Amino acid sequence: MSDGLLVTGGTVLTVNERNEVIEDGAVFIERGRIADLGEAAALNERYPNAERLDAAGQAVLPGLVNLHLHSGLIRGTAEDLPVFEWLAKYVDPKHRALTEELAYAAARLSYAEGILSGTTCVMDMYRFMHRCAEAADQLGLRATLAPYVVDKPGMDYFESLEKNERLVREFSGAAGGRIQVWFALEHLTYCTEGAYRQAAALAEKYGTGIHTHGEESREMAARLHQETGRWPVELFCDRGILGPKTVLAHCVWLQPEEMELLAKTGTSVAHCPVSNLKLASGIAPIKELLDLGVNVGIGTDGVKENNNLDMLEELKFVPLLQKARLLDATAIPAETALRMATIDGAKALGLDEEIGSLEIGKKADLIVVDFRKHHLTPIMRGKYSNAVSNLVYAASGSDVSHVFVEGHPLMKDRKLLTADAEQIRLEAQDAAEKLFALREPFIPA
Ligand SMILES: [Zn+2]
Repeated sequence: MSDGLLVTGGTVLTVNERNEVIEDGAVFIERGRIADLGEAAALNERYPNAERLDAAGQAVLPGLVNLHLHSGLIRGTAEDLPVFEWLAKYVDPKHRALTEELAYAAARLSYAEGILSGTTCVMDMYRFMHRCAEAADQLGLRATLAPYVVDKPGMDYFESLEKNERLVREFSGAAGGRIQVWFALEHLTYCTEGAYRQAAALAEKYGTGIHTHGEESREMAARLHQETGRWPVELFCDRGILGPKTVLAHCVWLQPEEMELLAKTGTSVAHCPVSNLKLASGIAPIKELLDLGVNVGIGTDGVKENNNLDMLEELKFVPLLQKARLLDATAIPAETALRMATIDGAKALGLDEEIGSLEIGKKADLIVVDFRKHHLTPIMRGKYSNAVSNLVYAASGSDVSHVFVEGHPLMKDRKLLTADAEQIRLEAQDAAEKLFALREPFIPA
């Protein structure tokens, strides 16, 4: 009979307040929580009966938090168009055609891809999200569901606030507390002022959060300003949605007064660097936001704008873009990028007391990344320690060997344990073919 699990011998990146790194470290997991952590020698002695997972040559760190994701099936087929043309040609027709079964296949595919690349927690903005709850429950993932609500006329194929409210009531705290449900609105051009106000009131009523797209297009920010006299973040403020339980995706083009508003209200930003590059949106002023104390997490966005959900790949772009934009090699250190992908993402979701760092008492959401690879050699220690740099600049999702959520193994030795990975892939292939057939009539000439 095993007495807890000891992940031992690895380099433990705690991402605690001091970014403490423990070489030859160990993490002891009991009843879903981190019951102890420290030097491997001491913990090996303290827990002689624990089941052991040898992490020698590997890094042990908090699971990655993907703060902005859309589950999806149209990877690689929505390319090379500016964002609003891209929405009209590829994305809205897909929304018109999407069914509950197809959404379920998309969520299963996206969550499996996430787990296989080290993600333990997502905020997914998608449709038919009772089925996303089912997918997250099965796969063991931690998820915040944020349905695509739209209320502008002619777009009733999206979700409604009524359905969003029902989802909040039925699924908040589901899957043993791993699922939370937020109110979510697509975009300022898809939703009325009333929808934002109503979402703010509902979020207050249920004590939950709000997720929406901040502006990614410079032209659209200018157009909104021309029409209303207010910049996008000011519009969000007028409509009552800013605050510590709100996450705005993108925020690529911000006036200084908008950055101040984000800082003053404690609103978080989900930075999606690859999506912003692919859709030619631009480079978000992340360094300036961090300097103002704005909490920023990282998201991959969906496969239609990325084209993968690999958070370790995403992580590399965060410091690189700021360095190049500001011609400042010190703009964002690797430690800061790692914090954004873990504890800061958790904070944005209101989960930082429970997850996001490896600390005694927290839930055991953690991953192990195998550094015994040519592209991660050498592994250096002490004053030449390169574990964090290796992770941010050299590792990718396929280097993740084990994934745990609340102490449950979701992936071990790269094998998904909570579902049949190959079946998920085949079902997604089939679902995508159906979706493309159903979408055909909605594609504008
Ligand atoms: Zn998005």
